[in-house]
Amino acid sequence: MEFTIKTTKHHELIDITQKAKDFVKESKEDGALLIYVPHVTAAITINENADPNIKDDILKAINNAIPEHDNYQHDKMDNNAGAHIKSTIVGCSQIIPIKDKKLQLGQWQDIFLCEFDGPRTRTVIFKILH
Ligand code: ZN
Repeated sequence: MEFTIKTTKHHELIDITQKAKDFVKESKEDGALLIYVPHVTAAITINENADPNIKDDILKAINNAIPEHDNYQHDKMDNNAGAHIKSTIVGCSQIIPIKDKKLQLGQWQDIFLCEFDGPRTRTVIFKILH
């Protein structure tokens, strides 16, 4: 299944954990859940959301490590090379094991869509792997 999310900021992490849990519960299948974004300036990651400041800290560290503009050659074309690099480093997918029809996420693990070049409409794909 796939769904879209309209992001509202240039950079943001959006929690999609509940959508993934609902999909796995309704699918009634074991295996593993593939979560994938068919984009070149977005990504999927897993981390804590109990303290929402962590999302800001992650974005701050990524943005510090990878400047938005740094004389990148692609910036001459569409001015978003930094977002492409962030997407490549974080990655466009995650795979989570399923046991007894539940995602085997740790107590503090949540799943995030990472927007690095918003606002845009993003597609997220869920697929059960057997
Ligand atoms: Zn580009």
